[in-house]
Amino acid sequence: MSFLNARKSVVATTLFLCLFVIGCGGARTPAEDTVAFEGGIMGTIYHISLVATLSDELATSTAALIETTLKRVDGKMSTYKDDSELSELNTSPAAVPVTLSEETFSVLKLALEVNKQTDGAFDITVGPLVNAWGFGPDAFLNPPTEDVLATLHALVGPDKITLDESNHAVTKLADGVYCDLSGIAKGYAVDAVAQALSAEGLDRFMVEVGGEVRTSGLNSAGVPWNIAIEKPVSEGRVLQEIVGLRDIALATSGDYRNFYEVDGKRVAHTIDPVTSKPVAHSAASVSVLHPQCALADAYATAMMVLGPEKGLAIAERLQLPVMFLLHGEDGSITTRQTESFKDYVVVR
Ligand code: FAD
Repeated sequence: MSFLNARKSVVATTLFLCLFVIGCGGARTPAEDTVAFEGGIMGTIYHISLVATLSDELATSTAALIETTLKRVDGKMSTYKDDSELSELNTSPAAVPVTLSEETFSVLKLALEVNKQTDGAFDITVGPLVNAWGFGPDAFLNPPTEDVLATLHALVGPDKITLDESNHAVTKLADGVYCDLSGIAKGYAVDAVAQALSAEGLDRFMVEVGGEVRTSGLNSAGVPWNIAIEKPVSEGRVLQEIVGLRDIALATSGDYRNFYEVDGKRVAHTIDPVTSKPVAHSAASVSVLHPQCALADAYATAMMVLGPEKGLAIAERLQLPVMFLLHGEDGSITTRQTESFKDYVVVR
């Protein structure tokens, strides 16, 4: 088996941000101040643009608020930190309840709800499979054998953990059950920063962490935030679509940033909980809009598992604005959008 490890940077930032303003005709009000914050977190980069006039002191305290919020979520929900709450759960033995913070418990609860709504496609218990296929924190050698997959598959499924609302305790039903929040917790971190900024009375912003975005209010020119969705090609960054967002979040999952090839076949990081294997259908990327970024994030991962037919049917059922970008046989990219997604597309 020839095995080309072409893994790109782990983090799939499947959006690049054009915080540009498209003139809306007529006289434009002078742009107000936009203050930008950026830094590294969760193996990726965050960018925040805030429309506000901040004193130096307020800018410094806002930067500290953003960092503290992101580090709090990272410290609790990372599988890359041995001392996170999630790692404590993942290394705990079966049948021993592990008490989590209300915050981490709420994300596991939300993840189980999305599991139900997406016919099992979004499943945080796929952690052992994600790691076996080389997309987790551990060093990666070779794709897993069928026997290994069969063993690990026995640890997967929403029934492998029980949640006790009374004390935020989670109990694993078998040793080796391992939860991976990489498909929802970045979106949750975006929501946490958005809530922290709003609590300070700062309500015009664009928060982006590793490609997951949430907007509030209008940008500095008084129009929606224009966010570019890139063409799902692994070479360079090519614009596919621009969406104008106000008070809504956008998450995109794809197979073209975080992948490797085996015998010329792409192996990407979205795992089908039923087959235990990386999904292999025509979807190159899926973008989902939702007021809550954690949900946009989780639904986008679920849609990547489901593929366009089942995914769009569930999107209609859940009334989710969704856009699939599909690989064509000839290397082209075709688009399938729900009607509701089209309302956000900026006509160029
Ligand atoms: P998404 O499509 O949003 O999520 C895909 C990820 O979800 C996969 O990588 C896998 O982990 C998981 N997944 C796969 N299939 C399923 C499924 N069926 N159901 C549910 N989940 C599934 N990366 C680093 O390299 N270093 C770090 O220090 C680091 N720290 C992190 C800390 C936190 C709190 C989180 C949430 C992630 C961290 N990551 C880190 C991972 C990285 O930030 C991204 O989360 C990862 O690359 C996936 O994000 P995405 O947007 O590319 O893919």
